[in-house]
Amino acid sequence: MTPQPNALEIADLVMHFGPVRAVDGVSLTIPRGRVTALVGESGSGKSTVGRCVVRLVEPTAGTVRIAGTDVTHLSRRRLRPHRGAVSIVFQDPAASLDPRMLVGEIVAEPLRLAGKRISRRDRDARVAPQLERVGLRAEVARRYPHELSGGQRQRVSIARALISEPMLLIADEPTSALDVSVQASVLNLLADLQRDIGFACLFITHDLSAVEYLADDIAVMYLGQLVETGSRERIFARPAHPYTQALLSAAPVADPVRQRDRQPVLLGDDLPSALDPPSGCRFRTRCPLAFDRCATEVPAQTAIGDGMAACHLVRPDGTGPDVRTADPS
Ligand code: SF4
Ligand code: MG
Repeated sequence: MTPQPNALEIADLVMHFGPVRAVDGVSLTIPRGRVTALVGESGSGKSTVGRCVVRLVEPTAGTVRIAGTDVTHLSRRRLRPHRGAVSIVFQDPAASLDPRMLVGEIVAEPLRLAGKRISRRDRDARVAPQLERVGLRAEVARRYPHELSGGQRQRVSIARALISEPMLLIADEPTSALDVSVQASVLNLLADLQRDIGFACLFITHDLSAVEYLADDIAVMYLGQLVETGSRERIFARPAHPYTQALLSAAPVADPVRQRDRQPVLLGDDLPSALDPPSGCRFRTRCPLAFDRCATEVPAQTAIGDGMAACHLVRPDGTGPDVRTADPS
């Protein structure tokens, strides 16, 4: 039996915008049906990774494979048959939905872009169940985006993304532009759809409570590079990299016992510029544990069980640094 290809394989991805090194050597695999959360502060390059995967931008170097096919340098025409395999939901549905198109046309658009000719009647028949699947009535197809609420518009984006039955969904901060009151329901919808349909998902977010709820695996990004990967369980219980420890220490958790033994680690300072990242370990200018070697030597990725961490202090058993006990200096 030949093994099923992974939904997504990213290898050594580099994306430079002029002098800005937005993504600088990212490798990441998502097996079929699994959800990987890509987390990090804004400016870390996580959205750029998502945009490279759907070919909104062409990477400077590296490869992107979707369902086993290298799509990195396919021409538009040769990309066409693969388009339906991956979809994206953007942060702001107001900006990503064409205001001149009816909702029904918007939801059906991926079918047209994949080169399928369908009659209006067939289109309506395909669109209605998609709208119902995301909790909207079929008659919404005859409305314009501006007639809908923000949460409804994001449901339309999700219906559009799923109509081609993609193997992989990129969800780029899908709730962060919405009212707090509807964020949970849209997140719930995504989680339900993922469980029912079983698509793989790259869930780009800075909201760690959403990660705890939705993700199987976590990849932590800092200034264009991955600093840690692993299962959600392991990373939440035993984050290995000082940056992951700091991020998690500041995030609210559902469990009050766990909250009690976590002192927030304040990172201070803003993210350094991707124009001129620090030498050695990029996190060293904010790391409470930085020492001489961190300025001169790029930390290797140490494999730890279900993933890796890139820090000089991490041992292969996953133990090592603990920023919560570091001397503030
Ligand atoms: Fe901190 Fe050094 Fe580890 Fe980087 S390599 S995370 S600066 S201890
Ligand atoms: Mg972003």
